[in-house]
Amino acid sequence: MIHKLPELGYEYDALEPFIDAKTMEIHHTKHHQAYVDKLNATLEKYPSLQKNDVEDLLKDLNNIPEDIRTAVRNHGGGHSNHSFFWKLMKKNVKFSGDIAKNIEKTFGSYEEFKKKFTEVALGRFGSGWAWLVLNKGKLEITSTANQDSPLSEGKIPILGIDVWEHAYYLKHMSNRAAYVEAFFNIINWEQVNKKFKGSK
Ligand code: MN
Repeated sequence: MIHKLPELGYEYDALEPFIDAKTMEIHHTKHHQAYVDKLNATLEKYPSLQKNDVEDLLKDLNNIPEDIRTAVRNHGGGHSNHSFFWKLMKKNVKFSGDIAKNIEKTFGSYEEFKKKFTEVALGRFGSGWAWLVLNKGKLEITSTANQDSPLSEGKIPILGIDVWEHAYYLKHMSNRAAYVEAFFNIINWEQVNKKFKGSK
């Protein structure tokens, strides 16, 4: 077992009322744990791949043996995406810094960015993620299906939202729009700034 479930770094109720404690607990201890366990089980057959970071595996899926490629894409993606996602959320962090300037420059304003990001998050059919990524050095809003990582498309995730129903169903039921709206209250812009700075 080499891949481990990371700590959230905060309590399950820390994002209330925007994301409820029960959802956070199940999402972390059941869903994310399952991706970690299945990734480890998948890699048992190929010990040489066990030393790689999950991000390195996802960046180069073509180099993963074909018989485990889909499993690495799904469970490795699930592990990487969720590890990224937990750190992105914190209450009461201001939209500021270098990323704020660059978002305003790229999308016109915070409101325009929020509108476009929301459209993409609501437009993702079925399960997946909406992302703000750096693509060849440019900010872009995009989405992926299932647990696919932008890293597999050569893009660097800066911000992302899990739009699987397991991320919001207990509180918001089928109302993905209410969940996406709530998410904008808990974006950890300090962390997004860190990601942006580290990725340029
Ligand atoms: Mn999830």
